[in-house]
Amino acid sequence: MGPAQKLNRLSYVDQNECTGCEACAVETPKVFRMTSDGLAEVYNPQGDSETQIQSAMDGCPVSCIHWKK
Ligand code: SF4
Repeated sequence: MGPAQKLNRLSYVDQNECTGCEACAVETPKVFRMTSDGLAEVYNPQGDSETQIQSAMDGCPVSCIHWKK
């Protein structure tokens, strides 16, 4: 089995800012999902390409998805 591409940066959702719009979970479901609280979380930080995750970040209406430093 081929190992998933290792990303240099890992993402996270600032749930204090998330509005629960579901855009990230719809667009990038291999990385983001909605919790029972109705907020998004990163459940698989290596689940997709950096380009795809960046696209989810750019599509977040409140810009609350970030790269970990
Ligand atoms: Fe929350 Fe942003 Fe995802 Fe919408 S796109 S659910 S505001 S993290």
